[in-house]
Amino acid sequence: MHSITRKLFLFHVVLFTGCTSTQSVDAKTPTGTVSLSYIARLYSMKMTTFGKKVILQNKYNKLEIETNSRRSWINGVMLWLHEPCRKHGAEWTIREVDFKKSMDPILRTYAYAPKRMPRLVVLDPGHGGHEPGTISPSKIKEKDVVLDISHRVRKLLEAKGIQVRMTRTGDTYPQLDARTTYAYKVGADLFISIHANAAGASSASGVETFVTAAAGYDSSNFYGQAGDKQPQRNNTYDALNSVLGFSIHSNLVKMSKRNDRGLRRARYSVIKKATCPSALVECGFLSNPAEESLLNTSSYRETVARGIANGVLGYFTMIKRALR
Ligand SMILES: [Zn+2]
Repeated sequence: MHSITRKLFLFHVVLFTGCTSTQSVDAKTPTGTVSLSYIARLYSMKMTTFGKKVILQNKYNKLEIETNSRRSWINGVMLWLHEPCRKHGAEWTIREVDFKKSMDPILRTYAYAPKRMPRLVVLDPGHGGHEPGTISPSKIKEKDVVLDISHRVRKLLEAKGIQVRMTRTGDTYPQLDARTTYAYKVGADLFISIHANAAGASSASGVETFVTAAAGYDSSNFYGQAGDKQPQRNNTYDALNSVLGFSIHSNLVKMSKRNDRGLRRARYSVIKKATCPSALVECGFLSNPAEESLLNTSSYRETVARGIANGVLGYFTMIKRALR
């Protein structure tokens, strides 16, 4: 084990084995919160502030946390927190749930790995049949775009020896529950739902990825609105959802070169009932003229498919390393 990895591992054994759900990991801050200075010490990171951001950095990773905001970045890729970074006394803090179920699993995946290698990926092209999803101004249907992208992802993953199944392979509409039930029945190790976005403002653009919100917290697409905060079946996989979602999202941003709208949280029906790590990917906005044109080209669809496939392959690689 690498020396810094060993140091972090020992630190976390102390941190998590001595901790119950009612105890805070950071005694200096209110229950359920962790100070950024504590995280900096934990990862042996140097902490600085720059404008509205607190920056934590060592030679391996860089965390940027925007103060009084839910936005953060890990190695330049945006991660939405469940709750804003707030000041308590002299300390900037985030919720423990964001540290334990998002940041730490992304940075130290080996500590959260499942007991065996994943084998089967189920891809879920959104919508289908009588349900077109979003329709662009020039009448391009989301259901067609995402089916094509999903076929491309399948081909790329199968070329790397990964087993893939799809919830639909043609223009049909499986019910949302039937999609996760199918994934469960075939023994899916990962479930990835693929969509294209729409917004009232045609200026909205970019790519975003969703994983299930942690129990007790708002979805980040409905922040501030009343929402169902009940625990969901998929919450069992909170940590690995973050690892999968972040791997897909960072590769998608890198490949597509579109605006990074972040890894977000939502209780979308199709992912909250998944019985394995799961993510929902939004590949661009059909309501944005530039992205509508892009989504209508096979080259952009292939680029997006490569981003998603690379994200899945990245996840497999991290788990393989952890199980060595
Ligand atoms: Zn959709």
